[in-house]
Amino acid sequence: MTLAGLLLLAVFLIAAALVLTIGMRTWLRYRGQRVIECPENHAPAGVEVDARQAAVSALGGRLELHLKDCTRWPERAGCDEACLRQVETSPEGCLVRTVLARWYEGRTCALCGAAFGEIHWHDHKPALLTPDGVPRSWAELPVDHVPEVLQTHRPLCWNCQVTESFRRRFPELVIDRDEPDSRDSGVSR
Ligand SMILES: [Zn+2]
Repeated sequence: MTLAGLLLLAVFLIAAALVLTIGMRTWLRYRGQRVIECPENHAPAGVEVDARQAAVSALGGRLELHLKDCTRWPERAGCDEACLRQVETSPEGCLVRTVLARWYEGRTCALCGAAFGEIHWHDHKPALLTPDGVPRSWAELPVDHVPEVLQTHRPLCWNCQVTESFRRRFPELVIDRDEPDSRDSGVSR
């Protein structure tokens, strides 16, 4: 290969790397579920930005955001997507994971008192305790309920969610250590 050919190849590879970096960075920034305030009714709504389309538009030099999904669809499908201004202003701030991580930060488990350290969403996810003491996981809750739930529920660690869920499902298999056992004349174990 001639020197000119090598130079051309190097320029092509650098340009390709730049394009990939811009596309990947945009995709990472806009993927995921978010909670916004719907400009139409001023109530929380869960939305998902079309991160792939955002990445493609960024490669063309002009970022364009569109919704891929919204908890108010299909009733409000075809709206002007004015909520996207909130996403543009703070892409990280309205991410559900960011909202939840901020909520758990500095709090302790409602049952065992353990402090929540760094949240690992892929493993041992923290959960919630309803006002009437029922353990719930985030997977059970619609995204647009997140703001309301954060006002009414208490934080629950993964261990307590597992044990409380088991206790509720199989109460006959669980004996509390601090409860007197009828078999040994009321002596606590
Ligand atoms: Zn706990």
